[in-house]
Amino acid sequence: MAIIYPWLQSQWSQVMVLQQQQHLPHAMLLTGSHGLGKTEFAHALGQALLCRSPLSDDVAGQACGKCHQCSMVAAGTHPDFYIIKPAPPKNSKSKHPILTIRIESIRDLCSKLSQTSQMSGYRIAIIEQADKMNAAAANALLKTLEEPGDNTLLILLSTDTSRLPATIRSRCQQFKFVSPSFPQVENWLQLKGDFSDTASCQQAFQLSHHAPLTTLEVAGQWPQRELLASALLAESRHEDILDYALKLSQADRHSLLGWMLDWVNDLARLSIAPDSCEQVINQASIQPLTQLARLVDRPGLFRLQTQLLQTLQQGSIALNPQLLWENLLLSWKHLFQPQTRSSSRP
Ligand SMILES: [Zn+2]
Repeated sequence: MAIIYPWLQSQWSQVMVLQQQQHLPHAMLLTGSHGLGKTEFAHALGQALLCRSPLSDDVAGQACGKCHQCSMVAAGTHPDFYIIKPAPPKNSKSKHPILTIRIESIRDLCSKLSQTSQMSGYRIAIIEQADKMNAAAANALLKTLEEPGDNTLLILLSTDTSRLPATIRSRCQQFKFVSPSFPQVENWLQLKGDFSDTASCQQAFQLSHHAPLTTLEVAGQWPQRELLASALLAESRHEDILDYALKLSQADRHSLLGWMLDWVNDLARLSIAPDSCEQVINQASIQPLTQLARLVDRPGLFRLQTQLLQTLQQGSIALNPQLLWENLLLSWKHLFQPQTRSSSRP
């Protein structure tokens, strides 16, 4: 059964109060960054509404996990519980296909929701990564969002609501999930993660932008993070930064691009406000970052920021990975050598 993470319990209680007062909306939009537990929350809410004997202790309102309804949900066979996720294009042979929610999935869902409930209870539809709906799919959902029928709840999830059409957003009640503070999650992280001490736990929390579920992944990412740090600090050790392009091209592109963006944002922060050390994501590299921030070419830094954001948004579009990294590393190198900005590799 889906669980309610400790930092989401007050949010859970608020939703349960709405439900008890029969004020639960028919369409909810759960927003907030990746790694906060939105998906588990949505599943737990769906399961709770279908359950015949929800718990009254501990986390009140949660599904019991034992009744017939709960067993069907657990087996993936509940006829009134629908989950829509982005999928690759049909017949795609790409290793990194672009995932979308297509109109066929939404039409199919809307047609099922227009029929009566199979179990004479709630009907729940969860649309994960709803911002991956293409325009036709979003349009097809509008009518159902407006009049979903009795005892129907649509739960849409999104980390980036700016990518959702305003027509979708305006038809849902938005529930914003915010990042917890470190004291709120420290015990849970220590229990679930493999951290040697509080400092390393806090460092991982910072690196994951205060998203507890992502914090648990940081431990497995150290070698790749170290590789990027070595590349970005190569020049200060009199190494050739371009020697790192091949190794970087073999690692996970999306993660590396996100981390490089963190480095760029840290530099921007320190170059504008040298005292803002506490907000720096890469605390372990605060010294070299502070030094680099004094030398950085700020317009170039903002160009690199845009370049990284655009490359991240292009997602899975095929690019020669080694060329991509040579290009990015050169842009980085030139931030600190404005006089050689137009030169290329000797
Ligand atoms: Zn149950």
